[in-house]
Amino acid sequence: MKPRIASLLLFSLFALSCAFLQPTPTPPPEASSTPDPLDTSWDDRSIFKEGLVPSAQWALNELDGATVYHIELDIADNLSHVNGSEEVRYTNTESEPLTEARFRLFPNILGGKMEVANLLVNEATATPRYDLRNSLMIVPFSAPLAPGESVVIRMDFSVEVPRTVELNYGVLAYDQDVLALAHAYPMVSVFDDEGWNAEIPPQEGDVTYADASFFIVKVTAPKGVTVVASGRRVGFTEAEQTQSTVVASGPARDFYLAASPNYVETSINADGVLIRSYTTANFSEGSQSLVETAARAIKVFSERYAPYPYTELDFVSTPTLALGIEYPGMIAITSWIYDTENDFANEYLEATVAHEVGHQWFYNLVGDDQLDDPWLDESLTQFITLQYFIDTYGIAGSEEFKGSLEFRWDMIARENIPIGLPVAEYDGATYSGIVYGRGPLFFVALRDSMGQPAFDAFLKEYTQSLAWKISTPDALQSLAEKHCACDLDDIFNEWVYP
Ligand SMILES: [Zn+2]
Repeated sequence: MKPRIASLLLFSLFALSCAFLQPTPTPPPEASSTPDPLDTSWDDRSIFKEGLVPSAQWALNELDGATVYHIELDIADNLSHVNGSEEVRYTNTESEPLTEARFRLFPNILGGKMEVANLLVNEATATPRYDLRNSLMIVPFSAPLAPGESVVIRMDFSVEVPRTVELNYGVLAYDQDVLALAHAYPMVSVFDDEGWNAEIPPQEGDVTYADASFFIVKVTAPKGVTVVASGRRVGFTEAEQTQSTVVASGPARDFYLAASPNYVETSINADGVLIRSYTTANFSEGSQSLVETAARAIKVFSERYAPYPYTELDFVSTPTLALGIEYPGMIAITSWIYDTENDFANEYLEATVAHEVGHQWFYNLVGDDQLDDPWLDESLTQFITLQYFIDTYGIAGSEEFKGSLEFRWDMIARENIPIGLPVAEYDGATYSGIVYGRGPLFFVALRDSMGQPAFDAFLKEYTQSLAWKISTPDALQSLAEKHCACDLDDIFNEWVYP
């Protein structure tokens, strides 16, 4: 996410994730003869293949035990109520038996409401417990689930979408004729070395921490609305009043969609990736500039770190209070940045787009605990945004963006607060100044300390070896030390750790 810069300055929070459903002249597949994608067997990953570029398709043969979601979402005519059903195949990939599964019901802490009914575990009725202001649903198993074993959990749910953008930057909202539907399905929590991981996310940062998963989602919406969703479209049908689109997305750490009657599409094809942007017709010039920036950023990051994994990347304009928010294969950008007649917008568009595109590498491809270690996604993404400016415009052409990093840190008088704290330990000003300012400057210092060739090789191996996994501060430091054949404790202690 990219928080905004306060007033004149920055309020900076970039947020994150996508695929998509909609126009393009693709003819609707014949409804009768094609099997329902939601009937795809749990282990059949062929439906995801065309959504991945060839160099990323290796992931389909790996990730044993990744969670598979089959979801149906029915969006009401008012675009602010959703009825859904979800079937999840969850596999115990831990080394100990599990007695329960845990799901996040994020709308309950994002200003909306989510209720779950008809919960079944392997077809037997189960009674959940709730915690964290009903944003955590604990599903007990009738017998412990051994390592390597799987369970199928089924439920119905409803979502009321807030009509304001006051909480968490408006990631989940229906406002200004745009539905931004983030984290609006029961989402499996991460089980890591701390056990089941869940907390209430602070307002400043990103909401989720998630494992790479596979999603097949059928979205039914009123006709006349353009629906843009994570993943690649694999089915489309129409009824009298409604349209239904099926998307397949994965590996991916979340599922997101946006919908509006006012969206107009702008697209380009860049090196095998279809980049689309959706906003109102009056902002089409900004939309064009945005997709061209995204194409440049994808090229820089693909060459430097790892190929962009998907065949599509979709941008949607939303009323979010962040500058932008990342989702897998999809990015929400705050609407005003599309306005080419707004000087502020012209100033922020390129950095915001490059930053959000960067999250496709650091957040989605390489995951991390975004609440405990925000520097692993936000600070590193700010650094690679600087790298984008260097590679695109040269050192001189990158000075302005580098100046914006210094500026954020200057705003809190260059306090030596560690960059490696959890989001909850910063306030709004220090979160911006440290995680988005001092954090990327740490990576500049690390690069200068290691030397460019060793640093470049380190970051490439970091990205590729941790693809679709969860990174940690230790993993980052030890890989950097391997590449410089040196001890980096001093520089990490100076910048990162408390
Ligand atoms: Zn960000």
